[in-house]
Amino acid sequence: MSTETETRPFEAEVAQVLRLVTHSLYSHKEIFLRELVSNASDACDKLRFEAIGKPELLGDDGELHIEVEFDKDAKTVTVRDNGIGMSRDEVVANLGSIASSGTRRFLESLSGEQQADARLIGQFGVGFYSAFVVADKVTVLTRRASAEPKDGVRWESDGQGEYSLRAEDIAVRGTSVILHLKGDDTEFLDNWKLRDLIRKYSDHVAFPIRMKKQKDGKPTDEWETVNDASALWAKPKSEISDDDYKKFYKSLGHDFNDPLAWTHNRVEGAQRFTTLLYIPAQPPFDLLMGARDERRGVKLYIKRVFIMDAAEELLPNYLRFVRGVVDADDLPLNVSREILQHNRQIDRIKASCVKRVLDLIEKLAKDEPEKFKTFRKAFGSTLKEGIVEDPSNRERIAKLLRFASTKGEGAEQNVSLDDYIARMQPGQDAIWYVTADSYKAAAGSPQLEAFKAKGIEVLLMFDRVDEWILGQFTEYEGKPLKSAAKGELPLDEADKKKQEEVAKEAEPLVKKLKDLLGDGVSDVRVSARLTDSPSCLALSDYDLAPHLARLLREAGQDVPDSKPTLEINPAHELVKRVESESDEAKAKDLAMLLLEQAEITAGAALPDPAAFVQRMNRLLGGS
Ligand code: ADP
Ligand code: MG
Repeated sequence: MSTETETRPFEAEVAQVLRLVTHSLYSHKEIFLRELVSNASDACDKLRFEAIGKPELLGDDGELHIEVEFDKDAKTVTVRDNGIGMSRDEVVANLGSIASSGTRRFLESLSGEQQADARLIGQFGVGFYSAFVVADKVTVLTRRASAEPKDGVRWESDGQGEYSLRAEDIAVRGTSVILHLKGDDTEFLDNWKLRDLIRKYSDHVAFPIRMKKQKDGKPTDEWETVNDASALWAKPKSEISDDDYKKFYKSLGHDFNDPLAWTHNRVEGAQRFTTLLYIPAQPPFDLLMGARDERRGVKLYIKRVFIMDAAEELLPNYLRFVRGVVDADDLPLNVSREILQHNRQIDRIKASCVKRVLDLIEKLAKDEPEKFKTFRKAFGSTLKEGIVEDPSNRERIAKLLRFASTKGEGAEQNVSLDDYIARMQPGQDAIWYVTADSYKAAAGSPQLEAFKAKGIEVLLMFDRVDEWILGQFTEYEGKPLKSAAKGELPLDEADKKKQEEVAKEAEPLVKKLKDLLGDGVSDVRVSARLTDSPSCLALSDYDLAPHLARLLREAGQDVPDSKPTLEINPAHELVKRVESESDEAKAKDLAMLLLEQAEITAGAALPDPAAFVQRMNRLLGGS
């Protein structure tokens, strides 16, 4: 290899990340240390894992550790590890180009609607670049485990768009990241400051983080361990304080908020494993960004050795907000992802994780209403997906769901299915709901009128996932779930009789409307659903909800056209006007308006909005 220095540009998106990071992290500079220590710890984890099959990789330097050092005169802070190191190709791939989709996601989150907090940088897999928040030059010296000293690499950059690469003799394995601090960032050239930051952000990194002992304000040659350096989850619960749990979560999740709750369990018996699982207080950014690929967040260890990020294998998709650690005693250390995906022990561990998380959420629901509310806001609709994804836990998940309701407090989603059942009217045998694309649209559905008149509660559903879930969720505690906009209504004998009479009387009117609307409808009939509104759409059990049909069409999907069935309220003034109107053109305008307002309240797209407005204006006397 040549010893020439080669200069390369950063890939465009990296340059963009660098610019953004230096600006938006300005008030949280100290994050850099957490990110560099986290990378050093990952590097030690990787080496320990590779050394399982190749113990010679460790050589006579078997005690993996991290060193943090500063030099007041040179104005540098150095983070060094004796982990896996990088080859030249790896340096190029990891520190100069877009190593993962995280880069793009990070950029989107900073510029998009959900203003990411730049402090979450580590969640996106671009933590290394936080070095440039405090440094105007960063030097990386690295040598891959198993490589010769001459195959060391020096990488250097001022973070302005280019970096340089050069071969360099490096005596030991691992990586040193040397930060040449900017003029005004000398606060980090301080023994106590650095120790404080390590204990604050990296106390539970499982490798020792060492700093030099100081004497008379000068470093001595003696190193001492600054952090706790133990695998927190492996300690007995009685030895772990809440504060320890919180700190561990923060370094694990690259989060600066406390977690909402956690559950820590050791399972003994035929199969032995430990789980420490957290529910964050706010959605992690991969959740907000809808990132479903390369799901991270739960780390698999086997006998304290980090094996891989295995969120996919250890948790179902609907619990993808959970963060944590699983440590299994009985899996072979050389386990691969393929093996994990078809492994009965893993299946059992996964089932146990699900149980623990559901237990934890149940506990919040029961004992900690404020926390449960936070949970619902952040993850309620994610959890809901479990109804479809995890039929074996359907009842448990359903019990944890909360909805808005005609007897609830406005848009607040806090009515459980059990609350609903407890309030059911005598003789009521179904759980009624309406779906729409917003709370207001749901609460304003004309289909609710008859239910209100009879005092029957209706759940108001307006989450994106609701329609999909209700397709499979048809019963709870032996009670069918029914849409108030579809099928039969809960009428008693007297109601039915009255309804028949009204319908009979309205026959000529119905005929007139059918003639006026012609091809625009598949049927017109007298409604039992309405008391105040003149009209609404009625759906058959198999119809797609109109708002959903519109959403799907907007998303470019092929949705078959189906003609609506119009239901009318013959007692309403507007409907009476159609009946008495002898001018054919005016009667047709009125009839069309009955149909169009029914479509609008159902969230359907109007086929011809301009014609609707003209009609409206004619009737208002405009032209
Ligand atoms: P992440 O750690 O989430 O992957 P970073 O931006 O922090 O993202 O680091 C990018 C990559 O650079 C890492 O995935 C790793 O491959 C490499 N890297 C960074 N620091 C080190 C180190 N100390 N030792 C070995 N590799 C490292
Ligand atoms: Mg990192």
